Amino acid sequence: MNILSFFAHPDDETMLAGGALALLAMLGHSVHYLVCTRGEGGEMGEPPVCVQGELGKYRTIETINAVKALGGKTVEFLDYIDPIVGPDNLLFTFSDDIENIETQLSKVVRKHHINSIISHGSNGEYGHPAHKTVFQSVKLYFEVNNNSDINWYTAQANYPNPIKPHLINKDDPASWILDIKPVIYMKINAAKAHVSQNALFVRRSQKELKRNVSLEEVIAEEEAYYWVRGSKDDLLSTFRESKNIRE
Ligand SMILES: [Zn+2]
Repeated sequence: MNILSFFAHPDDETMLAGGALALLAMLGHSVHYLVCTRGEGGEMGEPPVCVQGELGKYRTIETINAVKALGGKTVEFLDYIDPIVGPDNLLFTFSDDIENIETQLSKVVRKHHINSIISHGSNGEYGHPAHKTVFQSVKLYFEVNNNSDINWYTAQANYPNPIKPHLINKDDPASWILDIKPVIYMKINAAKAHVSQNALFVRRSQKELKRNVSLEEVIAEEEAYYWVRGSKDDLLSTFRESKNIRE
């Protein structure tokens, strides 16, 4: 199977879906990565890895290393620039032109003979406008190609008592929950590869848990997915092989 991981920023692939993507690679599937921006507007890290103007270059390398850690086959970027985060943590999308994003997505899907797409969920997880843009562009892809037999699944689906409630898409009910413990070392190594974001990952969790945490502890041991269209079973049967599934 050829799977496309399609997310807005470097590190979304790892933090939102790294377990499933690593498991798919481990089971012999080809996982291709498409990232809309190079995360130019994010933080430089603690200590900073570079100056803001060079961040895109650094985060490109970090993403390539993360994809390697997840066992991915290829990684490509669309040339959108990630806007700098505004005051009071105000977040922006990289583009409102979903037609143009859809056109580029469609080329990548054809090039790699993609069978399944894994993307952001309908609420953009915690409401990030760029994540919602990606969701909308995949939705448009299936409106344009309504006869397509490609499957679409979204990450961070909703289920009772999730490990990270702030990342859940409240309108996407989980079709299954994946125990990612067998590949958690791959997800941890991928998270570590995003060097400029490591302090941010830890800070977010510390705020939530109100105690000091290590990067290893930040990585959730389960991931939930919503089957949006196509065959539910294509990906599910693969995960059943791994016996780490709750339906
Ligand atoms: Zn993101």
